[in-house]
Amino acid sequence: MALKQEDQGYDVHNRMEEVAVLVVKKVVEEDKSACTCPRCQLDMEALVLNVLPPDYVVLENGAPVGKSLITSLDILERELFHHALAGAYRALDIVKSAPRHGDDVEISLRNYTEDMIVPTLQEILKHRKTECTCSECLSRVMMYALNDLKPKYTTTAKGDVYARVDEIDARHLAKVYAALYGAFEHVEKDGCHL
Ligand SMILES: [Zn+2]
Ligand SMILES: [Zn+2]
Repeated sequence: MALKQEDQGYDVHNRMEEVAVLVVKKVVEEDKSACTCPRCQLDMEALVLNVLPPDYVVLENGAPVGKSLITSLDILERELFHHALAGAYRALDIVKSAPRHGDDVEISLRNYTEDMIVPTLQEILKHRKTECTCSECLSRVMMYALNDLKPKYTTTAKGDVYARVDEIDARHLAKVYAALYGAFEHVEKDGCHL
């Protein structure tokens, strides 16, 4: 479920996505009345992801740089594990009480925060001078900014287009700009790794 956005010049991934998959699987296995359809699974994962602190990493050829993917709940810190599990039980309750399955559209998990960042980043690059816009530097800008903002995961029909800057709520936009400017400073201080 990696966020592959190579056409946008960056490639990042939230390591909490694997955690969400694992905890949702765990609570669904315990509850025989839980729905296992893809829509309900993804709706639950989105709800879990929105209560977890994001942990974005840069991907290089599909593999995370500096950290590994989380493949088991056993390696999570206790606090994070309990937080994720509580989120999954709550998500299960919400989705069971109002399941959205039934329509045939193919859906995918999206972080709306990322959708807001993409056009904002492009807007900033139009007038802000920066040393390097290689895909690695842009990926690191995205990583820092996304880790600094609250995730807003939703399930949407596959192929939905990205938001435009003028469609983004002004309050959100201010935060997105601030996070991106902070991220640029961070990356410029580190310098390009290439
Ligand atoms: Zn379902
Ligand atoms: Zn660079």
